[in-house]
Amino acid sequence: PEYSDCPPDSQELGRATWTFLHTMAAYYPETPTKQEKTHLQNFMTSFSWLYPCGVCADHLRQDMKKHPPPLESGEKFSKWLCDTHNKVNKQLGKPIFDCSKVFERWRDGPSDGRCDWGLPTD
Ligand code: FAD
Repeated sequence: PEYSDCPPDSQELGRATWTFLHTMAAYYPETPTKQEKTHLQNFMTSFSWLYPCGVCADHLRQDMKKHPPPLESGEKFSKWLCDTHNKVNKQLGKPIFDCSKVFERWRDGPSDGRCDWGLPTD
């Protein structure tokens, strides 16, 4: 099965969490309202304290101190998240992802249409 019935290990949790975070970023508005910016700031701060992998959350908080998430546009936030994920990839010896492809990977899908289901938008 795609999901086992065991509690997630750090790999499964990480994969599921990145899926959620990159998708949230890809759908964050290009021109967010003041309230949306506040929600994103609060979300990321809370997330960095509550993510249930202690060392991962620790690293993220350190990184966010030096590089706070940009709230002013979807493109900037997606790029920031991609760079942040790449730092973890580097540390774990995983391939570096090409950040010019985040929207294709997490929102638009490839141009051949093989992933054309998308999410409901309203
Ligand atoms: P993942 O890294 O989970 O990536 C999933 C998919 O995202 C990939 O298949 C690829 O299609 C896409 N992708 C890859 N890189 C990018 C990118 N830069 N931008 C956009 N899309 C991308 N694990 C540790 O062992 N130590 C840690 O300190 C640690 N910190 C973490 C911090 C956070 C905030 C999170 C969410 C996870 C962390 N993890 C950490 C887990 C780790 O990052 C991986 O999720 C886990 O090892 C599983 O890796 P994976 O190979 O399945 O791919």
